[in-house]
Amino acid sequence: MFSTSHIEISKSALQNNYHFLRQLIGENVTLSSVVKGNAYGHGLENFIPLAESCGASHFSVFSADEAFEVQKLKKENSQIMILGMIGNEELEWAIRTSIEVYMFDLERLEVGLQIAQKMQMPIKIHLEMETGMNRIGIAKKDIPKVFQLLTNYPNCYILEGISTHYAGAESIANYVRVKQQIINYKKIVKRFQRKENPAFIPKKYHTACSAATIAYPQTRMDMVRIGILQYGFFPTQETLIQYLKDNKTHIDPLKRVLSWKSKIMTIKDVEAGEFIGYGTSFLASQKMKIAIVPVGYAHGYSRSLSNMGRVLVRGERMAVVGVVNMNLMIIDLEKMQSAEIGDEVILIGKQGEQEVSVASFSEMSNQLNYELLTRLPMNIPRKIVE
Ligand SMILES: *Cc1c(COP(=O)(O)O)cnc(C)c1O
Repeated sequence: MFSTSHIEISKSALQNNYHFLRQLIGENVTLSSVVKGNAYGHGLENFIPLAESCGASHFSVFSADEAFEVQKLKKENSQIMILGMIGNEELEWAIRTSIEVYMFDLERLEVGLQIAQKMQMPIKIHLEMETGMNRIGIAKKDIPKVFQLLTNYPNCYILEGISTHYAGAESIANYVRVKQQIINYKKIVKRFQRKENPAFIPKKYHTACSAATIAYPQTRMDMVRIGILQYGFFPTQETLIQYLKDNKTHIDPLKRVLSWKSKIMTIKDVEAGEFIGYGTSFLASQKMKIAIVPVGYAHGYSRSLSNMGRVLVRGERMAVVGVVNMNLMIIDLEKMQSAEIGDEVILIGKQGEQEVSVASFSEMSNQLNYELLTRLPMNIPRKIVE
Protein backbone atom coordinates (compact mmCIF):
# COMPACT_ATOMS: atom_id res chain seq x y z
CA MET A 1 0.00 0.00 0.00
CA PHE A 2 1.26 3.53 -0.75
CA SER A 3 2.00 5.21 2.54
CA THR A 4 4.87 6.97 4.30
CA SER A 5 4.30 5.17 7.58
CA HIS A 6 2.28 2.30 8.98
CA ILE A 7 0.79 1.14 12.24
CA GLU A 8 1.18 -2.34 13.69
CA ILE A 9 -1.34 -3.86 16.07
CA SER A 10 0.03 -6.61 18.30
CA LYS A 11 -2.16 -9.62 18.94
CA SER A 12 -0.01 -10.97 21.77
CA ALA A 13 -0.10 -7.58 23.53
CA LEU A 14 -3.88 -7.49 23.37
CA GLN A 15 -4.09 -11.05 24.66
CA ASN A 16 -1.79 -10.09 27.52
CA ASN A 17 -3.96 -7.09 28.43
CA TYR A 18 -7.21 -9.04 28.34
CA HIS A 19 -5.63 -11.73 30.47
CA PHE A 20 -4.56 -9.10 33.00
CA LEU A 21 -8.00 -7.49 33.01
CA ARG A 22 -9.81 -10.77 33.41
CA GLN A 23 -7.67 -11.65 36.42
CA LEU A 24 -8.31 -8.24 37.88
CA ILE A 25 -12.11 -8.16 37.52
CA GLY A 26 -12.84 -11.88 37.90
CA GLU A 27 -14.94 -14.23 35.84
CA ASN A 28 -18.38 -12.76 36.48
CA VAL A 29 -17.93 -9.16 35.43
CA THR A 30 -18.63 -8.31 31.78
CA LEU A 31 -15.84 -6.47 30.01
CA SER A 32 -17.15 -3.98 27.49
CA SER A 33 -14.39 -3.09 25.06
CA VAL A 34 -14.61 0.66 24.41
CA VAL A 35 -13.80 1.30 20.75
CA LYS A 36 -14.90 4.89 20.21
CA GLY A 37 -12.53 7.19 18.29
CA ASN A 38 -11.64 4.47 15.76
CA ALA A 39 -10.69 2.12 18.61
CA TYR A 40 -8.49 4.83 20.16
CA GLY A 41 -6.69 5.18 16.84
CA HIS A 42 -5.95 1.47 16.50
CA GLY A 43 -8.43 1.15 13.60
CA LEU A 44 -11.83 -0.52 13.92
CA GLU A 45 -11.42 -2.71 10.90
CA ASN A 46 -8.52 -4.65 12.39
CA PHE A 47 -9.34 -4.19 16.02
CA ILE A 48 -12.88 -5.60 16.20
CA PRO A 49 -12.09 -9.06 14.74
CA LEU A 50 -8.83 -9.16 16.70
CA ALA A 51 -10.56 -8.27 19.99
CA GLU A 52 -13.17 -10.95 19.31
CA SER A 53 -10.48 -13.52 18.66
CA CYS A 54 -9.04 -12.56 22.07
CA GLY A 55 -12.41 -13.02 23.80
CA ALA A 56 -14.25 -9.68 23.58
CA SER A 57 -17.96 -9.85 22.83
CA HIS A 58 -19.31 -6.52 24.07
CA PHE A 59 -18.32 -3.22 22.43
CA SER A 60 -19.00 0.36 23.47
CA VAL A 61 -19.00 3.23 20.99
CA PHE A 62 -19.81 6.90 21.33
CA SER A 63 -22.32 7.33 18.53
CA ALA A 64 -24.59 5.71 15.97
CA ASP A 65 -22.14 6.15 13.09
CA GLU A 66 -19.49 4.26 15.04
CA ALA A 67 -22.02 1.56 15.93
CA PHE A 68 -22.83 1.25 12.25
CA GLU A 69 -19.17 0.56 11.46
CA VAL A 70 -18.75 -1.94 14.29
CA GLN A 71 -21.90 -3.74 13.20
CA LYS A 72 -20.34 -4.47 9.81
CA LEU A 73 -17.23 -5.92 11.43
CA LYS A 74 -18.43 -7.83 14.48
CA LYS A 75 -19.59 -11.41 14.90
CA GLU A 76 -23.31 -12.00 15.12
CA ASN A 77 -23.30 -12.66 18.86
CA SER A 78 -21.28 -9.63 19.91
CA GLN A 79 -23.20 -6.77 21.49
CA ILE A 80 -22.91 -3.05 20.77
CA MET A 81 -23.69 -0.30 23.27
CA ILE A 82 -23.92 3.39 22.30
CA LEU A 83 -22.68 5.56 25.17
CA GLY A 84 -23.66 8.85 23.63
CA MET A 85 -25.18 10.29 20.52
CA ILE A 86 -27.86 8.73 18.40
CA GLY A 87 -30.43 10.75 16.48
CA ASN A 88 -34.15 10.07 16.86
CA GLU A 89 -34.24 8.99 13.23
CA GLU A 90 -31.65 6.27 13.97
CA LEU A 91 -33.45 4.79 16.97
CA GLU A 92 -35.58 2.54 14.79
CA TRP A 93 -32.45 1.03 13.30
CA ALA A 94 -30.99 0.53 16.78
CA ILE A 95 -34.13 -1.27 17.96
CA ARG A 96 -34.29 -3.46 14.88
CA THR A 97 -30.66 -4.49 15.20
CA SER A 98 -30.69 -4.97 18.99
CA ILE A 99 -28.17 -2.23 19.71
CA GLU A 100 -28.14 -1.06 23.32
CA VAL A 101 -28.47 2.70 23.78
CA TYR A 102 -27.82 5.10 26.62
CA MET A 103 -30.83 7.15 27.66
CA PHE A 104 -29.58 10.42 29.08
CA ASP A 105 -32.69 12.59 29.26
CA LEU A 106 -36.47 12.33 29.39
CA GLU A 107 -37.11 13.48 25.83
CA ARG A 108 -34.83 10.82 24.41
CA LEU A 109 -36.39 8.16 26.64
CA GLU A 110 -39.91 9.03 25.62
CA VAL A 111 -39.12 9.09 21.90
CA GLY A 112 -37.34 5.73 22.20
CA LEU A 113 -40.26 4.16 24.01
CA GLN A 114 -42.76 5.53 21.47
CA ILE A 115 -40.81 4.14 18.54
CA ALA A 116 -40.47 0.78 20.27
CA GLN A 117 -44.20 0.70 20.88
CA LYS A 118 -44.93 1.45 17.25
CA MET A 119 -42.49 -1.25 16.12
CA GLN A 120 -43.73 -3.69 18.76
CA MET A 121 -40.13 -4.47 19.57
CA PRO A 122 -38.45 -3.56 22.84
CA ILE A 123 -35.67 -0.99 22.93
CA LYS A 124 -32.59 -2.03 24.90
CA ILE A 125 -31.78 0.84 27.22
CA HIS A 126 -29.18 1.87 29.73
CA LEU A 127 -30.35 4.70 31.96
CA GLU A 128 -27.38 6.99 32.40
CA MET A 129 -27.80 8.83 35.68
CA GLU A 130 -26.34 12.20 36.60
CA THR A 131 -24.32 11.70 39.77
CA GLY A 132 -22.05 14.74 39.77
CA MET A 133 -20.10 14.92 36.55
CA ASN A 134 -22.62 17.35 35.13
CA ARG A 135 -22.22 16.23 31.58
CA ILE A 136 -24.79 13.83 30.14
CA GLY A 137 -27.16 11.89 32.39
CA ILE A 138 -30.71 11.94 33.76
CA ALA A 139 -31.12 14.49 36.54
CA LYS A 140 -32.22 13.40 40.01
CA LYS A 141 -35.35 15.54 39.82
CA ASP A 142 -36.44 13.66 36.68
CA ILE A 143 -36.39 10.20 38.27
CA PRO A 144 -40.16 10.17 39.14
CA LYS A 145 -40.83 10.99 35.49
CA VAL A 146 -38.63 8.07 34.45
CA PHE A 147 -40.72 5.75 36.61
CA GLN A 148 -43.85 7.22 35.04
CA LEU A 149 -42.58 6.74 31.49
CA LEU A 150 -41.42 3.20 32.10
CA THR A 151 -44.81 2.41 33.66
CA ASN A 152 -46.64 3.94 30.69
CA TYR A 153 -44.75 1.83 28.18
CA PRO A 154 -44.55 -1.67 29.67
CA ASN A 155 -43.02 -4.28 27.36
CA CYS A 156 -41.54 -1.57 25.17
CA TYR A 157 -38.10 -1.73 26.73
CA ILE A 158 -35.51 -4.00 28.23
CA LEU A 159 -33.63 -2.34 31.05
CA GLU A 160 -30.12 -3.47 30.21
CA GLY A 161 -28.38 -1.18 32.62
CA ILE A 162 -28.30 1.70 35.07
CA SER A 163 -25.03 3.52 34.64
CA THR A 164 -23.01 6.59 35.43
CA HIS A 165 -19.56 7.98 34.62
CA TYR A 166 -17.00 9.44 37.02
CA ALA A 167 -15.51 12.89 36.62
CA GLY A 168 -11.83 12.00 36.78
CA ALA A 169 -11.17 8.72 38.61
CA GLU A 170 -7.62 8.85 37.24
CA SER A 171 -6.54 11.53 39.72
CA ILE A 172 -6.56 11.53 43.51
CA ALA A 173 -7.32 15.25 43.28
CA ASN A 174 -10.88 14.22 42.40
CA TYR A 175 -11.22 11.71 45.27
CA VAL A 176 -13.92 13.55 47.20
CA ARG A 177 -15.97 14.20 44.10
CA VAL A 178 -15.77 10.60 42.87
CA LYS A 179 -16.64 9.22 46.33
CA GLN A 180 -19.71 11.46 46.38
CA GLN A 181 -20.67 10.19 42.93
CA ILE A 182 -20.50 6.61 44.17
CA ILE A 183 -22.81 7.53 47.08
CA ASN A 184 -25.21 9.34 44.74
CA TYR A 185 -25.29 6.39 42.37
CA LYS A 186 -26.14 3.99 45.20
CA LYS A 187 -28.97 6.21 46.37
CA ILE A 188 -30.43 6.30 42.87
CA VAL A 189 -30.19 2.53 42.55
CA LYS A 190 -32.09 2.16 45.87
CA ARG A 191 -34.92 4.28 44.50
CA PHE A 192 -35.29 1.89 41.58
CA GLN A 193 -35.11 -1.16 43.83
CA ARG A 194 -37.69 0.22 46.27
CA LYS A 195 -40.28 0.27 43.47
CA GLU A 196 -40.30 -3.52 43.66
CA ASN A 197 -41.08 -3.72 39.98
CA PRO A 198 -39.03 -6.43 38.24
CA ALA A 199 -38.99 -4.33 35.06
CA PHE A 200 -37.13 -1.59 36.96
CA ILE A 201 -34.27 -3.89 37.89
CA PRO A 202 -31.53 -3.67 35.28
CA LYS A 203 -29.58 -6.62 33.96
CA LYS A 204 -26.41 -4.75 34.83
CA TYR A 205 -25.26 -2.04 37.17
CA HIS A 206 -22.18 -0.44 35.66
CA THR A 207 -20.13 2.66 36.35
CA ALA A 208 -16.43 1.97 35.89
CA CYS A 209 -14.06 3.12 33.16
CA SER A 210 -10.38 2.07 33.20
CA ALA A 211 -9.33 4.43 35.97
CA ALA A 212 -12.23 3.54 38.27
CA THR A 213 -11.65 -0.17 37.64
CA ILE A 214 -8.11 0.25 39.00
CA ALA A 215 -8.59 2.89 41.67
CA TYR A 216 -12.09 2.14 43.01
CA PRO A 217 -12.73 -1.63 42.83
CA GLN A 218 -16.22 -1.21 44.34
CA THR A 219 -17.27 0.56 41.13
CA ARG A 220 -16.80 -2.53 38.95
CA MET A 221 -20.24 -4.02 39.73
CA ASP A 222 -21.60 -6.15 36.82
CA MET A 223 -19.70 -4.62 33.92
CA VAL A 224 -16.64 -2.44 33.34
CA ARG A 225 -16.24 -0.22 30.28
CA ILE A 226 -12.59 -0.52 29.40
CA GLY A 227 -10.94 1.72 26.84
CA ILE A 228 -7.35 2.78 27.43
CA LEU A 229 -6.24 -0.21 29.55
CA GLN A 230 -6.99 -2.76 26.85
CA TYR A 231 -4.72 -0.85 24.46
CA GLY A 232 -1.92 -1.17 26.99
CA PHE A 233 -1.90 2.22 28.71
CA PHE A 234 -2.75 3.31 32.21
CA PRO A 235 -5.05 6.34 32.12
CA THR A 236 -2.42 8.42 33.92
CA GLN A 237 0.97 7.92 35.54
CA GLU A 238 -0.83 8.27 38.85
CA THR A 239 -3.08 5.27 38.21
CA LEU A 240 -0.07 3.18 37.22
CA ILE A 241 1.78 4.12 40.41
CA GLN A 242 -1.25 3.32 42.53
CA TYR A 243 -1.54 -0.07 40.84
CA LEU A 244 2.16 -0.85 41.38
CA LYS A 245 1.98 0.21 45.02
CA ASP A 246 -1.20 -1.71 45.80
CA ASN A 247 0.24 -4.83 44.20
CA LYS A 248 3.77 -4.43 45.56
CA THR A 249 5.35 -4.77 42.15
CA HIS A 250 7.54 -2.73 39.82
CA ILE A 251 6.31 -4.29 36.64
CA ASP A 252 3.76 -2.61 34.39
CA PRO A 253 1.38 -5.52 33.66
CA LEU A 254 0.21 -4.07 30.34
CA LYS A 255 1.72 -4.28 26.87
CA ARG A 256 1.31 -1.59 24.26
CA VAL A 257 -0.79 -2.84 21.37
CA LEU A 258 0.13 -0.19 18.83
CA SER A 259 3.42 0.71 17.14
CA TRP A 260 3.94 3.37 14.51
CA LYS A 261 6.76 3.02 12.02
CA SER A 262 8.28 4.84 9.09
CA LYS A 263 11.59 4.77 7.20
CA ILE A 264 14.50 7.09 6.56
CA MET A 265 13.78 8.91 3.31
CA THR A 266 17.17 10.56 2.80
CA ILE A 267 20.33 11.53 4.70
CA LYS A 268 22.60 14.55 4.52
CA ASP A 269 25.47 16.36 6.20
CA VAL A 270 25.21 19.85 7.64
CA GLU A 271 28.10 22.16 8.44
CA ALA A 272 28.54 23.77 11.85
CA GLY A 273 26.86 27.16 12.03
CA GLU A 274 24.01 26.28 9.62
CA PHE A 275 20.33 26.39 10.52
CA ILE A 276 18.31 23.23 9.88
CA GLY A 277 14.82 23.28 8.34
CA TYR A 278 12.43 26.25 8.32
CA GLY A 279 13.54 29.36 10.13
CA THR A 280 16.03 29.51 12.91
CA SER A 281 14.75 27.14 15.55
CA PHE A 282 17.74 24.78 15.25
CA LEU A 283 21.36 25.78 14.75
CA ALA A 284 23.98 23.11 14.09
CA SER A 285 26.67 23.81 16.66
CA GLN A 286 28.91 21.19 15.09
CA LYS A 287 29.09 19.23 11.85
CA MET A 288 26.00 17.02 11.80
CA LYS A 289 24.52 14.09 9.96
CA ILE A 290 20.74 14.28 9.73
CA ALA A 291 17.99 12.09 8.31
CA ILE A 292 14.64 13.07 6.84
CA VAL A 293 11.58 11.03 7.89
CA PRO A 294 8.47 11.42 5.72
CA VAL A 295 6.02 11.96 8.58
CA GLY A 296 4.75 15.34 9.77
CA TYR A 297 1.82 16.97 11.48
CA ALA A 298 -0.50 16.11 8.58
CA HIS A 299 0.15 12.47 9.53
CA GLY A 300 -0.59 13.04 13.21
CA TYR A 301 2.96 13.80 14.45
CA SER A 302 2.26 16.92 16.45
CA ARG A 303 4.07 20.14 15.57
CA SER A 304 4.53 20.65 19.30
CA LEU A 305 7.18 17.90 19.11
CA SER A 306 9.44 20.26 17.17
CA ASN A 307 12.94 20.06 18.72
CA MET A 308 11.42 17.79 21.39
CA GLY A 309 10.37 14.47 19.83
CA ARG A 310 12.43 11.30 20.04
CA VAL A 311 12.36 8.40 17.57
CA LEU A 312 14.27 5.12 17.37
CA VAL A 313 16.68 4.04 14.63
CA ARG A 314 18.73 0.84 14.92
CA GLY A 315 17.81 0.62 18.59
CA GLU A 316 19.02 4.12 19.49
CA ARG A 317 17.09 7.20 20.49
CA MET A 318 17.34 10.10 18.00
CA ALA A 319 16.23 13.67 18.56
CA VAL A 320 13.86 15.53 16.28
CA VAL A 321 15.63 18.73 15.24
CA GLY A 322 13.96 21.87 13.95
CA VAL A 323 10.24 22.26 13.44
CA VAL A 324 8.01 19.36 12.47
CA ASN A 325 6.75 20.13 8.95
CA MET A 326 3.45 19.18 7.41
CA ASN A 327 4.83 15.96 5.89
CA LEU A 328 8.40 15.69 7.15
CA MET A 329 10.55 15.73 10.22
CA ILE A 330 14.31 15.90 10.57
CA ILE A 331 16.26 13.77 13.02
CA ASP A 332 19.82 13.97 14.33
CA LEU A 333 21.88 10.86 13.54
CA GLU A 334 24.63 11.70 16.00
CA LYS A 335 24.17 8.44 17.88
CA MET A 336 23.98 6.24 14.80
CA GLN A 337 26.25 7.49 12.06
CA SER A 338 25.94 4.18 10.22
CA ALA A 339 22.19 4.62 9.63
CA GLU A 340 21.13 4.26 6.01
CA ILE A 341 18.32 5.29 3.72
CA GLY A 342 15.42 2.87 4.18
CA ASP A 343 16.20 2.09 7.83
CA GLU A 344 13.14 1.58 10.00
CA VAL A 345 12.18 4.57 12.16
CA ILE A 346 10.04 3.92 15.23
CA LEU A 347 7.77 6.84 16.04
CA ILE A 348 5.87 4.94 18.73
CA GLY A 349 6.92 1.54 20.00
CA LYS A 350 9.93 -0.59 20.80
CA GLN A 351 13.16 -1.35 19.04
CA GLY A 352 15.86 -3.36 20.76
CA GLU A 353 16.02 -2.27 24.38
CA GLN A 354 14.52 1.14 23.77
CA GLU A 355 10.93 2.29 23.70
CA VAL A 356 9.17 5.47 22.67
CA SER A 357 6.01 5.23 24.71
CA VAL A 358 2.92 7.23 24.00
CA ALA A 359 3.20 8.49 27.57
CA SER A 360 6.67 9.98 27.09
CA PHE A 361 5.52 11.31 23.76
CA SER A 362 2.51 12.86 25.40
CA GLU A 363 4.54 14.43 28.16
CA MET A 364 6.82 16.00 25.57
CA SER A 365 4.00 17.40 23.52
CA ASN A 366 1.53 18.09 26.30
CA GLN A 367 -1.04 15.79 24.74
CA LEU A 368 -2.98 13.18 26.62
CA ASN A 369 -2.24 9.65 25.46
CA TYR A 370 -5.95 9.46 24.61
CA GLU A 371 -5.63 12.49 22.34
CA LEU A 372 -2.49 11.41 20.59
CA LEU A 373 -3.88 7.96 19.82
CA THR A 374 -7.24 9.09 18.53
CA ARG A 375 -5.65 11.70 16.31
CA LEU A 376 -3.64 9.12 14.38
CA PRO A 377 -5.18 9.53 10.95
CA MET A 378 -7.58 6.86 9.72
CA ASN A 379 -5.70 6.53 6.43
CA ILE A 380 -2.39 5.30 7.86
CA PRO A 381 -2.43 1.59 7.02
CA ARG A 382 -2.80 -0.72 10.01
CA LYS A 383 -1.82 -4.33 10.10
CA ILE A 384 -2.00 -7.04 12.74
CA VAL A 385 1.24 -8.66 13.86
CA GLU A 386 1.83 -11.44 16.38
C1 LIG B 1 -14.66 6.63 27.00
C2 LIG B 1 -15.54 6.07 28.05
C3 LIG B 1 -15.12 4.97 28.81
C4 LIG B 1 -13.73 4.37 28.70
O1 LIG B 1 -12.75 5.22 29.26
P1 LIG B 1 -11.25 4.69 29.50
O2 LIG B 1 -10.67 5.68 30.42
O3 LIG B 1 -10.57 4.70 28.18
O4 LIG B 1 -11.36 3.32 30.05
C5 LIG B 1 -16.01 4.46 29.73
N1 LIG B 1 -17.25 4.97 29.87
C6 LIG B 1 -17.68 6.03 29.16
C7 LIG B 1 -19.06 6.57 29.38
C8 LIG B 1 -16.84 6.61 28.24
O5 LIG B 1 -17.27 7.67 27.53
